[in-house]
Amino acid sequence: MNTAAVITARGVTRRFGGLVALDGVDLDVPSGIVQAIIGPNGSGKTTLLNALSGASHADAGSIRVGGHEIFRLKPHRIAKLGLARTFQNIRLFADLSVIENVKVAAACNTTTSLLSIIASSNRQKQTEAQIDQFSREALELVGLESRADDRATQLPYAQQRLLEIARAVASKPSVLLLDEPAAGMNMTESMTLLETIAKLKESGITILLVEHNVRLVMGISDRIAVLDFGKKIADGAPADVQSNPKVIEAYLGRRRRNA
Ligand code: ADP
Ligand code: MG
Repeated sequence: MNTAAVITARGVTRRFGGLVALDGVDLDVPSGIVQAIIGPNGSGKTTLLNALSGASHADAGSIRVGGHEIFRLKPHRIAKLGLARTFQNIRLFADLSVIENVKVAAACNTTTSLLSIIASSNRQKQTEAQIDQFSREALELVGLESRADDRATQLPYAQQRLLEIARAVASKPSVLLLDEPAAGMNMTESMTLLETIAKLKESGITILLVEHNVRLVMGISDRIAVLDFGKKIADGAPADVQSNPKVIEAYLGRRRRNA
């Protein structure tokens, strides 16, 4: 494992009116690991991913990706630094095939525009071939290569979520942010997802895995950071985090209040 941090965040703060959704969050993610971000619903997990990916900027703090300060950079500039993400809700092109969905995502992250790919100079043909290759490799990584020509909406829900991951992977990221990828999956599907995440890690991608279910991330994560009401209350090895009284209180206390 290369121990250089791919993500270094300091004092990341995000307010929505009077609500402090992120309150001075620090995060160091070493290269090559699976870092989980867990926390009860509304604790700020998605807000943190949005700040890291540029989808919705933080109000204060510093965020470095691969050594570059990305605070307030546009999402496509951050993507060019090797950061890709999926969203909590599925965002596929319903009318496109599985492979086309991946290619569109891959094309967005090459230097050639989609329009010019359709034209056919030699260089563009090369780009097209590369997009095709990267897209097929991404489908293989998530185990969907046999469904390449099906319409995206023909896939069962769990496979649509894997397709979203393939789309992110096709841009050849060094860091991949996954926002509750297991949402709506049953246990068997969640296990397949975890195997896929393990494969992605093996391929050298650093993973930031957002999840509210603690148990799901225990086996796969190298480190787990815990958010509660926008504050990071724990960060460390899974076993330490699981037995941390603050973490237990955040989950059990919330459940008691909701009961
Ligand atoms: P999580 O992903 O952990 O469930 P979020 O990051 O989505 O939590 O939300 C953290 C807090 O910020 C919640 O209280 C949520 O209601 C609030 N929030 C998130 N996005 C917005 C927004 N665009 N406008 C106002 N409040 C928001
Ligand atoms: Mg969320």
